[in-house]
Amino acid sequence: MKVLKFGGTSMRNAEAWKNVLNIINNTGAGTVTVVSATSGTTNALLQAAEVARSGKLEDALSITAGIKASHNAILDEFFGNADAPDRKIANDHLNDTIKKLDTYLLGVSTLGELTPKSLDAISSTGEQLSSFLLVECGKKVGMNAVWVDSAEVLKTDSSFGEAKPNFPLVAERAEIIRAHSNEGAFIILGGFYGSDSNGVVTTLGRGGSDYSASIFALASGADVIEIWTDVSGMFTSDPRFIKHAFSIKELSFNEAAELAYFGAKVLHPATIQPAVERNIPVYVKNTFEPNHPGTRIFSDTLAETPVRAIAFKKDITVITIISSRMLLAWGFLSKVFDVFNKHQVSVDLVTTSEVSISMTVDKKARLDKIIDDLENIGTVKIYENQALISLVGKDLLKSKGIAAQAFNSLSKFPIRMISQGSSDNNLSVVVENDDAIEAVQNLHDAFFVNQPTPENV
Ligand code: ASP
Repeated sequence: MKVLKFGGTSMRNAEAWKNVLNIINNTGAGTVTVVSATSGTTNALLQAAEVARSGKLEDALSITAGIKASHNAILDEFFGNADAPDRKIANDHLNDTIKKLDTYLLGVSTLGELTPKSLDAISSTGEQLSSFLLVECGKKVGMNAVWVDSAEVLKTDSSFGEAKPNFPLVAERAEIIRAHSNEGAFIILGGFYGSDSNGVVTTLGRGGSDYSASIFALASGADVIEIWTDVSGMFTSDPRFIKHAFSIKELSFNEAAELAYFGAKVLHPATIQPAVERNIPVYVKNTFEPNHPGTRIFSDTLAETPVRAIAFKKDITVITIISSRMLLAWGFLSKVFDVFNKHQVSVDLVTTSEVSISMTVDKKARLDKIIDDLENIGTVKIYENQALISLVGKDLLKSKGIAAQAFNSLSKFPIRMISQGSSDNNLSVVVENDDAIEAVQNLHDAFFVNQPTPENV
């Protein structure tokens, strides 16, 4: 059985939905599909929530009216007449969901408070609409499509906004997916959301539909995961900014995970973890160019070049803490990490000297509180508007000359941090935001363009 996942741009309008249904149909009976909200919908929902919180209920409701209209426009393409009898189920779901959404927004604006729990109820609406309505459109074109509500299967803890799946429970609940699949139905579920032990809706965090797909794949015993997006696989670097970037044929799980963590937006970083657990190959493919092979991600690859890709993440913050105690004092690092643990903020890159430590974080949330706590340990310096650049590959430690070549390409840029060695897959540096694109371009030219074309990159 295959699990396919289609992202927001793949779901952007009626034509895209027809394309998606075609791809599902061609994949074969029993296929499980996970979909995102239509493009822009999750952002619009988050905006509506914020606008409602600031007391502008009318403005928030006009956003939800827009969401209703765009979904109605898709239904028009499939059903024609708004009153067609076979459109009733779709109409009712759309009307009821928007009504429920408006009630949440009324609550938010009345209280002037937007809790993570309310935000999850609101932001998950996009997937609740897209998945259910896609099933109705599938039925309309003659497919045996079945909707399964992700809240019934993807059971999580109650950390709203970044819920953690309860894998054993999801595996139990996935029986419904397996049963429909064995009957040859096309199962369609919404990505991004699930529910906690009280049945309250939770979300996995932005971009979480990829993760949903791999969770469902693990739980339902799938043998392939296909992430369908608007680019043909994972690239050697972001092709929107870096000239000559190209699609990579194969990546190992480790390389893909490093790439996703260090900025490649094509895949949510957590997607790989369930796939690794049961060695399920993940393909990244292009909905708009379905015959392109895309990228295959698996336990090992036939890679011939050590550097496989260059990822980058802008707008990160570097925090440096200089110990106020004497040299050779122990316990400094542990106190620093306790602070991050307390605030549940993860750190990407760490470098240390005897008396100081620098680390990068990519979220600004809770930063003020973290700084307050760190100031009890030492002198804190903050450098904003930094960019993290990572060379990702295989055997980077064993291969000679990689660091020399990298630093040669970066010779004209000040480098704030350097990290290599904790894994064989990664060499990272931090530079100023404004230098990032040119620095990555230089690295990309050095490792990919001014080199003989590697056979199996
Ligand atoms: N719709 C959600 C988002 O935009 C989840 C996803 O598409 O992966 O973050």
